[in-house]
Amino acid sequence: MRITNVNGVFYDSNAYLIDAKRKILVDAGIDGKRVLKSLPQDLQLIVLTHCHYDHISAVPDIVAATGAKVAMHKDDIPLIRSKKLSASAMFGVGSPELKIDIPLNNDDTIDLGDCSLKVIHTPGHSPGSICLYDESTKELFTGDTVFEGGSFGRTDIGGNPEHLINSLENLTKLDVSAFYPGHGNIVTENANGWIKASYVNAKRMIF
Ligand SMILES: [Zn+2]
Ligand SMILES: [Zn+2]
Repeated sequence: MRITNVNGVFYDSNAYLIDAKRKILVDAGIDGKRVLKSLPQDLQLIVLTHCHYDHISAVPDIVAATGAKVAMHKDDIPLIRSKKLSASAMFGVGSPELKIDIPLNNDDTIDLGDCSLKVIHTPGHSPGSICLYDESTKELFTGDTVFEGGSFGRTDIGGNPEHLINSLENLTKLDVSAFYPGHGNIVTENANGWIKASYVNAKRMIF
């Protein structure tokens, strides 16, 4: 599974292109025209870690150019239409028009042909936030739930602190070789230790 970050500047989210037998994009970012420059024509699927504007705004342009299908956890789908809960209001724009083809549930498997990703529902930053886990390589896409340096996602845009702490605790039970957050740098060293640090920090700072 070859993973490239094709986005991620300033407030924009990272967007990870997974170049497996089926090519998929994890999060899309804000600017479709820019992200498209780094995407293959045969992109098949865009998996969104949650409904926030900085992760989903580029989707309509990417879908128009590639015909890729779009997947998101079912609990975040209705929030796309809300300017507030999709965080579009923070960016001073309306919520993007996009259609979700595949509603996801906890424990679903996303098949990439020669590898697969397991959907782990990690509510807290948003109700339908997910992480994606490759059980063979132990790589984890964390969206805005866990970031480098022991940080974690804010819960003031329709999130829930208690749910976030539970989700972080669940992630500490996974064996993770590297994680790919929605913002900032990829963490390849001491990934388990940093996830634990995010959990401990969240517990200390939120309560
Ligand atoms: Zn974000
Ligand atoms: Zn977010």
